[in-house]
Amino acid sequence: PDFLLSDFNTLRVLGHGNGGTVYEVRHRRSAAVFALKMVRADVSLRHQVQREVDILRRTVGCRHVVRFHSLVRTPSADVALLLENMDRGSTDALLRRRGRRPFPELALAAVARQALLGLAELHSRQIVHRDIKPANLLVNSAGEVKIADFGVGKVLLRSLDPCDSYVGTCAYMSPERLDSVTYGADYDPYAADVWSLGLAVLELHQGHFPLLPEGVPPDWAALMVAICLGEAKGVLPEGAASDEFRAFIDCCLRKESGKRWSVAELLGHPFVSGADRDESKQALRDFLQENSDESPVLKEPRKLGQIPPISI
Ligand code: ATP
Ligand code: MG
Repeated sequence: PDFLLSDFNTLRVLGHGNGGTVYEVRHRRSAAVFALKMVRADVSLRHQVQREVDILRRTVGCRHVVRFHSLVRTPSADVALLLENMDRGSTDALLRRRGRRPFPELALAAVARQALLGLAELHSRQIVHRDIKPANLLVNSAGEVKIADFGVGKVLLRSLDPCDSYVGTCAYMSPERLDSVTYGADYDPYAADVWSLGLAVLELHQGHFPLLPEGVPPDWAALMVAICLGEAKGVLPEGAASDEFRAFIDCCLRKESGKRWSVAELLGHPFVSGADRDESKQALRDFLQENSDESPVLKEPRKLGQIPPISI
C-alpha cells in the first residue's frame, strides 16, 4: 500500500542524524505506531535514494535489522521511510541518559550477540553496513537489539568526501578502511564492519569513545593517530573487565583485518555464546527498565507537516 504523510500523526521526535529527523508516528486508521524517518532530498538524488531503498528492501526478513515497511509519499522530493518503532531508542542515547555510566557486561553480551546476528544476516545477503556505531544500534522493551540506518540520508553527503565530511562517522572506521581513504587501496568491508562493532560495544562498556581520552572531542588528526597507531589492547587492562569480554574485544579490534575474527567465529565466542542467553537478555531488559526514557510525548498529537523537519 502507498502511504501518505497525512495518514499519520506525529507523537514525538525520536532522534536526529546527519540525514534528517526521525519521528514517532501513529497511523490514524489502525493506531499502529511506527518510526518515520524524514530525509531531505532533491530530485537530482532520486536515483541514489532509489538504490538505497532497494538495499533496505533486501533487508526485510532480517530479525536483527530494523524493519523497513515502506516509503511514504511526500509533497516534495523529501524521502520518508516508514520503519519499525524501536521503543527504547539507540544505545548511544541510552548511554548519554545514564550520564555515560557504562553498561553492565551481562546486558552487553545480549547487545553484542544480537548485533552480530544482525551483521550475519546482512553479510549473508552481501550487504555491508559501513556505519556501525552506538547511535545505529537500537533497542526495544522486549530486549531486542537491531541494526538501523542504511545511509539513505548519507547519500546526500557521500559525494563530498569519503568520510562524509563528518569526523564522527570516521571514528568507527577500521585502520585498513582509513588507509583506503588515504591511499585508495582495497579493503575487506565485512571485516571493517566487525571492527566498528567491536568499538561500539567497547564504547558502551567504557562510557565514552574508547580510543581517545575521556572528554576529548574527536578531531581528524587525533583519530587517525589513535586508530592507525594506537593499540586497542591498552584500553582494557587486566582487571578492567572479565577475561571473556577482553578476549572478545581483542578478536574484534585486531589491526590486521586478516587476523580479525569473522562474524560467524565471533558468534561462537564464549563472551556471547557462553553466558545464558535468556539471562543476558533479561539483564538487558532490566537495564532498559531502570534507564527508561522520559522524553516528552507531545500533548496533542499533531499532523506531520506542522512540525518542520530539521534542515541538514
Ligand atoms: P546518522 O547518520 O547520524 O547515523 P541518520 O540521519 O542516518 O543518522 P538514523 O541513524 O536512522 O539517522 O536515526 C537517527 C536517530 O533516530 C537514531 O540514532 C535513533 O536515536 C533514532 N531512530 C532512528 N530510527 C529509529 C527507529 N526505527 N525507532 C526508534 N528510534 C529511531
Ligand atoms: Mg544513525
